[in-house]
Amino acid sequence: MSASSTAPLPAPANGRDALSVLHSVFGLPGFRGAQGEIIRHVTDGGNCLVLMPTGGGKSLCYQLPSLLREGCGIVVSPLIALMRDQVAGLIEAGVNAAALNSSLTLQEASEVERRLIAGDLDLLYIAPERLVTPRCLSLLAQAKVALFAIDEAHCVSQWGHDFRPEYVGLSVIAERFPEVPRIALTATADELTRKEIVERLRLADSPQFVSSFDRPNIRYEIVDKRNAVSQLKEFIRERHAGDAGVVYCLSRNRVEEVAAALDEAGIAALPYHAGLDSSVRSRNQDRFLNEDGIVIVATIAFGMGIDKPDVRFVAHLDLPKSIEAYYQETGRAGRDGKPSAAWMAYGLSDIVQQRRMIDESGASDDFKRVSIGKLDALVGLAETPHCRRRRLLAYFGEIVTGETCGNCGNCDNCLTPPKMRDGKVLAQKLLSCVYRTGQRFGAMHLIDVLIGRLTEKVTQFGHDKLSVFGIGRELNEKQWRTVLRQLVAMGHLQSDSEAFGALKLTDSARGVLRGETEVWLREEAPGTRIRSSRAKSRRGDLSPAANAPQGDVDPELRARLRSWRSDVARERGVPAYVVLHDATIDGIVRAWPTTLDELRNVPGIGDKKLEHYGDELLQIIKTR
Ligand code: ADP
Ligand code: ZN
Repeated sequence: MSASSTAPLPAPANGRDALSVLHSVFGLPGFRGAQGEIIRHVTDGGNCLVLMPTGGGKSLCYQLPSLLREGCGIVVSPLIALMRDQVAGLIEAGVNAAALNSSLTLQEASEVERRLIAGDLDLLYIAPERLVTPRCLSLLAQAKVALFAIDEAHCVSQWGHDFRPEYVGLSVIAERFPEVPRIALTATADELTRKEIVERLRLADSPQFVSSFDRPNIRYEIVDKRNAVSQLKEFIRERHAGDAGVVYCLSRNRVEEVAAALDEAGIAALPYHAGLDSSVRSRNQDRFLNEDGIVIVATIAFGMGIDKPDVRFVAHLDLPKSIEAYYQETGRAGRDGKPSAAWMAYGLSDIVQQRRMIDESGASDDFKRVSIGKLDALVGLAETPHCRRRRLLAYFGEIVTGETCGNCGNCDNCLTPPKMRDGKVLAQKLLSCVYRTGQRFGAMHLIDVLIGRLTEKVTQFGHDKLSVFGIGRELNEKQWRTVLRQLVAMGHLQSDSEAFGALKLTDSARGVLRGETEVWLREEAPGTRIRSSRAKSRRGDLSPAANAPQGDVDPELRARLRSWRSDVARERGVPAYVVLHDATIDGIVRAWPTTLDELRNVPGIGDKKLEHYGDELLQIIKTR
């Protein structure tokens, strides 16, 4: 379905039209993508399924119709933290919003219920397990319900990664309230999940609004892992000093270690994993959400429902399990649409480790085969010399066409295309080395033999007597590692499931050894390439680096506004972005408004924000 941001919306019966509410309540000038079309459809009473990437603007798709329709919009949302922040943001904008979940006392809950029945609420967030109780259903039957929004709708999918049994019961909504519009929303793209949502939420005859899953503001970069922690420190220091970010690691120990290392380097970092005491965990999460510029180092236990819009980077120190996981995790960067980075350091050991985890998982052979296929697809993404964005979207069935076809201009490979060389001879040398040494050794030893190093192990096994000893002196160790990894990624070599770390030939290796199969290799290791592109971007021929202020943004005013925002947020006990988004602060700095009217034109400043903060903001600007 196409965007319809310019199409006029019919004024609903109550006289308020969508654009004027968008402007007065949310302070936004227009719709994004299919929002306008979706809002019109739901406001008119239709059901639908909305698939939009993270940060695409799903919330408005049900918030606005809830304000436009008579009654209260009921939002089913799986996480209390997410509800809390959304409700805080809505109240801030002058909307009568509340939540019903297990964090409320009995009294607080009955006050919310009273307001619902009295018609005193525009939006009510309810946890799914609560909604399906007979008590809650009869409460809703007594109230005027404007619509049901089922957020994170993929949680109904048994096959998905976020299955929540309590979501299955939500089919009761369609049965009990067939006349109330239902809007299901998710950022999970795959076909199977979509089918399950449609079935369980009874949306078979309803339209689906599918947006592109591209996240153009995210710059994808995958580097060769050498010393992951120092590479990470360098990445943060050079490109994301003072920014909020998420660093994903595979194990709890690693999380602790990396968080400590960053902290020692003067980067404000906090650990998060399931092994931490729950009070520590939620304190760390709250600090990440509420304070400026905290880096959270976490296992994948962290993330679902993290709604923080200004996460500037997501870094992976270990390879995720699949492209789906990679896309979901990296998607937590840049929800506010501002330049952000998805950075990953990966090496051969990652492939070996993930393979081993699959082999040792005790799962069925079918499941293992699927898991290996998913891992291979991700390794393919990591090794591709072509556009990463295109590869990522193609995986989700989306073909990129048009101007940017072939070059997105915002991934490492497009910014600095890697040089390719004919690698047939190198590949043959390496594969023969694997063969001659008996397919029992790991990368390190193989490379020692190739470059002719007389290590103890080499002498012990008599590998210095082999014809392959020293035949690879033209490359150094690091270069050989890159070649080796690419051959694993191409599937000519694989790690042995019985002997840990050992590499053996696959069937396709034979074609390479016989000279029948072409092998093209990336010449240089990925790594520091982006830095050079940043130098270019200073000259203005590339998009601005993530952290660089855009246009003539005055850093002093920006800093003052941010510190004012921190104070207000602390005083009121809400996250900083609930007070004002980064994009709004930058908008103010750019517009440099001197009157309330001018301030009102900055996107993100609605009536309530103007009323609450207008004078204070103008005062700060005036004294600058
Ligand atoms: P999602 O739920 O799809 O991840 P959100 O609804 O949280 O995304 O919106 C992401 C960001 O985009 C928010 O900061 C929101 O204010 C902003 N946004 C949404 N719609 C618009 C719009 N029409 N114009 C400008 N900003 C928007
Ligand atoms: Zn690209």
